[in-house]
Amino acid sequence: MRELSGIGVGRGIATGPVLRMPDPLPEPSTAPRGGTAEAERAAVADALAAVAAELTARGQQAGGEAKDVLDAQAMMAQDPGLVDDLHARIEAGSTGERAVFEAFAAFQQILAGMGGYLGERAADLADVAQRVIAALRGVPAPGVPTADHPFVLVAHDLAPADTALLDLDRVVALVTRDGGPTSHTAILARAKSITAVVGVAGADELSDGDIVLVDAASGLVIVDPDKAHLAAAKTRTEELAKTSTAPITDGALADGTPVPLLANLGSPKDAARAVELGAEGVGLFRTEFLFLDREQAPTVDEQRADYEAVLAAFPGKKVVVRCLDAGADKPLAFLSDAEEENPALGLRGLRALRANEAILRDQLVALAAAQENTEADLWVMAPMVADADEAEYFTSLAKELGIRVAGVMAEVPSIALVAEQVAEVTDFVSIGTNDLTQYTMAADRMLGSVAAYQDPWHPAVLRLVKLIGDAGRASGKPVGVCGEAAADPLLAVVLVGLGVTTLSMTPSALVDVRAELLKHTLSGAEKLAHAALAASTAAAARVAVAAASAD
Ligand code: PEP
Ligand code: MG
Repeated sequence: MRELSGIGVGRGIATGPVLRMPDPLPEPSTAPRGGTAEAERAAVADALAAVAAELTARGQQAGGEAKDVLDAQAMMAQDPGLVDDLHARIEAGSTGERAVFEAFAAFQQILAGMGGYLGERAADLADVAQRVIAALRGVPAPGVPTADHPFVLVAHDLAPADTALLDLDRVVALVTRDGGPTSHTAILARAKSITAVVGVAGADELSDGDIVLVDAASGLVIVDPDKAHLAAAKTRTEELAKTSTAPITDGALADGTPVPLLANLGSPKDAARAVELGAEGVGLFRTEFLFLDREQAPTVDEQRADYEAVLAAFPGKKVVVRCLDAGADKPLAFLSDAEEENPALGLRGLRALRANEAILRDQLVALAAAQENTEADLWVMAPMVADADEAEYFTSLAKELGIRVAGVMAEVPSIALVAEQVAEVTDFVSIGTNDLTQYTMAADRMLGSVAAYQDPWHPAVLRLVKLIGDAGRASGKPVGVCGEAAADPLLAVVLVGLGVTTLSMTPSALVDVRAELLKHTLSGAEKLAHAALAASTAAAARVAVAAASAD
């Protein structure tokens, strides 16, 4: 029995034989083309169109978050700048295949050089190029292997196009060598509830037919598991199956303490599924996701329509909308400074909004209008707020423009250290544990090489959460969590023990978190929180809380 470790996505556990993704197509030769430039151009145009159409069709079939990712890939395949570059290379004597290879690689380098969110898109381009070259060669696109039995798919990295359409009757789990917890593969796997462990450095050691047990909860891949491991996996699978059919109730602890369970949304079209899965409202609507491809700021009317669409799905319920969080991995052309060398530490979130106050004012005016036109209880918050001065600036501007409830996100360690000052000048605080972890641990959240630091179980992060929780309790101001940490069931209980009053997460996580909360009382949650705070590493905090929870 051997163990490989990586970063688990979700809580699933599964076992089966390994089937590896085939290696990518060999690099096209640099030999000069035989046919005419015109014929090569036409063949490339057909291949690009066929790949774009196939990606769009796959997106349509997959729906939801996968559709957005695949639509973006289809657009990349037809990017006018890329097509111009391809034509120039063919004109200069390349074959179509070689021109595709080089033009996509050049485009990919530009994106990778931008880092962050766009850098992650670079991997998508390599996948699109492979598909176009396969179409030119008339061979099947490299992709997920098929088998007539269930298997564990092992890949270097999995393109979103493949993750989106995994046949869940066949692929029982997914193991990738590359990718961090916020890579596309991880996001889609989480949305589709696929058992997955990503960033497994030893994944290349796995061969077709090896029997492996994939445990997302512990981030382990066990090769040739023994009987005891298999029996434990079976019990866990049965427990998980029970939770997924459990009745949908409002979030609460075993002693009846309410812990409202809210949804994180990136678009109005995600709202219906969140409602279906029992979201009691929205804890984070990421408005910047609506405008990532915009050159110009959206108008007030345009924004109002989008906000009303979300608010209308939650009559009488709380909907927390976040003002544009531009910068770092989510640059907005009309709001971000492209020149920053280290954009995660730059003019991001509220800093960018304050420097462009007209855009912030427009957004608040649009939100206030949406608030008046719908029945939802609108709360509005600012991202990346550093201290009480910024909190007061945002809260008073929001109130001046008609927002009834205004608050701030706690994502920068400084705000936790002055949390009681912040609580005095704002209506609520929502902790963004993704960024709070990134900044506390000084580890870029998009970088696979430091993914192990990006762990919200770290006691340093939890101690900051406690400072905010304590300030919330003392002032009577609500404190929510809307980072990925809230989607980890046991960590969610710890967060409640630290003083957090609501949890917001990707809708597919609601069922597991709801079930876990019901196993603990408030004093039990406080004991778990105490155990986590006393640990010295993230791993030790997990072990201590698991042990305390089993008592
Ligand atoms: C966070 O940082 O935890 C958060 C919720 O915001 P985002 O993931 O959009 O940066
Ligand atoms: Mg954030």
